[in-house]
Amino acid sequence: MKTIGIIGGMSWESSLEYYRLLNEGVKARLGGLHSAKLLMDSLDFHPIEVLQHQGDWETLGGILASSAVRLETAGADLILLATNTMHKVAPEIERSVRIPLIHIADAAASAIKALRIEKVGLLGTKFTMEQDFYRERLASHGIETVIPGPDDREIVHHVIYNELCLGKIEDASRNEFLRIIDKLVQAGAGGVVLGCTEIPLLVHQEHVDIPIFDTTKLHVEAALDFALQE
Ligand code: GLU
Repeated sequence: MKTIGIIGGMSWESSLEYYRLLNEGVKARLGGLHSAKLLMDSLDFHPIEVLQHQGDWETLGGILASSAVRLETAGADLILLATNTMHKVAPEIERSVRIPLIHIADAAASAIKALRIEKVGLLGTKFTMEQDFYRERLASHGIETVIPGPDDREIVHHVIYNELCLGKIEDASRNEFLRIIDKLVQAGAGGVVLGCTEIPLLVHQEHVDIPIFDTTKLHVEAALDFALQE
């Protein structure tokens, strides 16, 4: 079994899910008392969030590249960056280490293609929904994305930073997300990418009629495929 290096803390609410799902996944695949071999470098999210909203992606790229180097030096065989948004600086991380980064959008794309869905709704931070880095990565797999309108993007972004990343799970916010997902379906989405690692804390498959793509879960499965291959 390879050692998985997680860059976490963005937010720790979803890093906890990574820790749990990776261990449950190893137990399901290997049985008995097997558990995941992993290292986590958990960052303080406050300064990260400030730099995101200042648009200082260069500094953020440096911070995350240093984190990846720490994990590689400590013995990690692969890197999992436990946030969709920060994949904006995935190229900086990939340049700074020799071990592979398992890209979260590639993990989502494989699951979308397996269901032969060509157009998906995308929910995430405004950075993920509005900028090119994530939508283009999905497009490179032949997947078209549709995003909410400006007011609804504000709502989704606000709920992520002011509720989900603080561990608040509110029914009223779930209802707003379900209303927004309905609109994405009307715009032609055949599935919806939960493109923020905290959204699966709020929205589950049982709440929605179309397939949801839980990026936290799919990222974990992709890491386990890599970590446990012969
Ligand atoms: N964890 C979230 C994501 O997957 C949002 C927090 C962040 O900006 O990193 O995008």
